Amino acid sequence: MLVEADILVEEGKIVSVGKSIESGYTKTVDLRGRLVLPGAVDPHVHGREPGLEYKDDFLHTSKAAVLGGVTTVLEMPNTVPPVDSPSRLLEKKSLLSGRSYADFGLYAVLYDYGDDLDSRISELVRSGAVGFKAFMAQTTGNLPPPSFGTVYRALELSRELGFTVVFHAEDRECVEFFTSRVLGEGREGLRAYSDARPPLCEELSIGYVASAARATGGRAYVAHLSVASSLELVGRRGSRANVYVETTPTYLFFDYESHEGLGALVKVNPPVRDSGNRARLWRALSEGLIDVVATDHAPHADYEKRADFWKASAGVPSLQHLLPLMLTSALEGRIPIGRVVELCSENPARIFGLYPTKGSLLPGADADVVAVDPAAEYVVTEESLAYKHRLSPYVGWRLKGRVDKVFLRGELVVDGGDLVIERPIGRPLR
Ligand SMILES: [Zn+2]
Repeated sequence: MLVEADILVEEGKIVSVGKSIESGYTKTVDLRGRLVLPGAVDPHVHGREPGLEYKDDFLHTSKAAVLGGVTTVLEMPNTVPPVDSPSRLLEKKSLLSGRSYADFGLYAVLYDYGDDLDSRISELVRSGAVGFKAFMAQTTGNLPPPSFGTVYRALELSRELGFTVVFHAEDRECVEFFTSRVLGEGREGLRAYSDARPPLCEELSIGYVASAARATGGRAYVAHLSVASSLELVGRRGSRANVYVETTPTYLFFDYESHEGLGALVKVNPPVRDSGNRARLWRALSEGLIDVVATDHAPHADYEKRADFWKASAGVPSLQHLLPLMLTSALEGRIPIGRVVELCSENPARIFGLYPTKGSLLPGADADVVAVDPAAEYVVTEESLAYKHRLSPYVGWRLKGRVDKVFLRGELVVDGGDLVIERPIGRPLR
């Protein structure tokens, strides 16, 4: 719901929202003519630090986040070393503190901890892990997929302890089978890549995850769903109480029919699909079958993305343009603006237990506020990219609705589309 209102902020918190709040406060900011939204919460970011700083580091990643209106990032655990113990979680937390322009939470990885599974999970939760990530297929960092027993027990614990398990849902054996078949045919490119990791591999894994979540009552989150048909496996809202679904801009804006020329720049796991599927994903967004649009922001070095198609790394950097892309879609009438706020702020904050402190403009919330100029149009340039490696499939795209001002806990961090803060003030989430 869009309303015209003033927002009163004290000590980094929203105190009230309403018409004509009395003046006489220390400072007022005139946001007339602006769309004012809660800062976006991106629960799927690969910041690459520690260990993979040659791909990117957290200063660049979090700068890209706030420039794009993302004020909270949840950072994935497949760094080097991976976050698989309380000590590594705390080390990463202190490493990133002072190096983040956005507030951040850290995932721990879910793999086979053997007899230590229960204690490891509860210790990681106590140490502040915002959730767990299970990689069901091979990934950056080559972490082994968890066994059935680990998945089942982790979901039981997720219900008892109230955390969420995020699944990279592709079936590993299925991917291996079809990849070797397509390689044997000597094909390459985006369509070949979709055939090498076909919808079937995603469906097998999503069906597995959704069934296990249903059996345990656990909280499962299907990351980066690319295939609209697999939504049927999750079931409609209501009957799938604890299974959440995320998709990414990569699947909403690219397909192998229209974008084959981009090659490895949009090579990602799971792969981009055909245009009919892309249209079905948009329909699912408006029907409420998808809960979150997040980035799966996954930067790599230039040479890794510009390598031969099959050798090139999978992953698309997109953190800086998540909200701008969705706002452009809203301003073009493709999706209501309120739905964008649900998908990019409210729902991720709810699912990961951060709501209403994050993801809302309610009294008591952190004053993470994004002001957008709905009349501004601009073209994404390489120079404007905040990533260490200035790669983005969105270079040259014309977007509507510029992120003008961004406040993090009441502090102005972005003004006129530029970073205006001397040092990073992002904090780890409690
Ligand atoms: Zn990911």
